[in-house]
Amino acid sequence: MIEVTLPQVLEARERRVYLQNALIEKNKLPVISFSMNIPGPVKTSPLVIRSFKVGLSRLEEELGKSGIKLIDRVDIDEITGPELISSVSADANEIKNICIKIEEESELGRLFDLDIINVDGNKIERQRERSCIVCGREGRFCSSRRVHTVPELQKAVRERMLAFFLELDKKRIGKLCSRALLKELDTTPKPGLVDRNNNGSHNDMDASTFEKSIESLSSYWQECFALGVETASLDSDEAFSRLRLLGIAAEKRMYEATGNINTHKGAIFLLGTICEAMGRVYDGTGLEKDVERIADECIKLSSASMKRDFSTMKGRTVGERLYLEYGLPGARGELLSGFESVRKHSLPALKKARVDGKDENLSQIIALLSLIGLKKDTNMVSRGGIEDAKDASERAGKLLEKKDLNLSDIMALDEYFMERNLSPGGSADLLAVTIFFNSL
Ligand SMILES: [Zn+2]
Repeated sequence: MIEVTLPQVLEARERRVYLQNALIEKNKLPVISFSMNIPGPVKTSPLVIRSFKVGLSRLEEELGKSGIKLIDRVDIDEITGPELISSVSADANEIKNICIKIEEESELGRLFDLDIINVDGNKIERQRERSCIVCGREGRFCSSRRVHTVPELQKAVRERMLAFFLELDKKRIGKLCSRALLKELDTTPKPGLVDRNNNGSHNDMDASTFEKSIESLSSYWQECFALGVETASLDSDEAFSRLRLLGIAAEKRMYEATGNINTHKGAIFLLGTICEAMGRVYDGTGLEKDVERIADECIKLSSASMKRDFSTMKGRTVGERLYLEYGLPGARGELLSGFESVRKHSLPALKKARVDGKDENLSQIIALLSLIGLKKDTNMVSRGGIEDAKDASERAGKLLEKKDLNLSDIMALDEYFMERNLSPGGSADLLAVTIFFNSL
């Protein structure tokens, strides 16, 4: 964070006035001057710039609605803070009203300084003074008496920006998760799984069961992300234990929506952990895109708990038995490895297929086959036994070597899986994770 000096601030102010006058002289129109209201010596940061961009796009949107144009705009991005100075093709009072609306519509708007300078060189003043950023008191009382310290002001500003973007990014992550699950469902044909062609090896659910389940989970992903943000300073094991509570509640909603059918238990566990991990590394400037960093955070978050689980397994559940008998660690192992199967296999396979010109559906099928081919899917073994599971997984892996792989090959594999009652549910969960990572 670079602090600005007084001469730099004065120079920026001089430049602003110079530009304003030059634009008025040239265009004979009012001028808008937009900057951020940031207290203290640090005037810019990724968070400040992101906030400024929100203001810019709101301004362009609102002016556009009234057919008002920005003419000869100058965009400034320097350590004295981001700025826009431009002539505006409308009456100064009309523009001022639009600006006041933008300043007052959101928490972030309080940080916008949208000044209008009329053709006579005078600033259009607000009818009503803005309230104090720290305590909300009306008018200039606090600022004129310096009631609050600079650190207090800085903290209030930072919290405002964070709160605004947290809401935005929470919704975004929720959408990305729901969309990844829908795309996973839409991927057709999928061997043995419910898709848009058939119910695979399942007679108790169809695509609509999955749709209802996805709908019931739409707020869960946001909750996990917000939990990560909230618990970022807590010990990771403690933070992870709180996620379990959210997961249990989400499972309950899923079972209610599906009539007691397990559609997304794996996704609730895996994608939920990813959302919490992304919350823990969140800094307000956008969702983390670096999959390796997210994976590392997932490992940190879950390792103590996963290791405890593995060391106390007694074979009470199917998953525990498969681990003890065949060393298959299932979803827990995937999490503990930071989604190694996805990072090393399915995600590169998906990306390569897209680069090779394959369509989204076929690329997702290829990613799924690469997961099944790893022979780690515990759902395959629990339904079909270790031998059949191994054989079918090999067939899936082999198909990937076929040069002109097409949908009829996959349909034949689907038949093969259905005849043996096999369903790679674990791989399907990881396909959703793959699609989610790819969407970042
Ligand atoms: Zn105050």
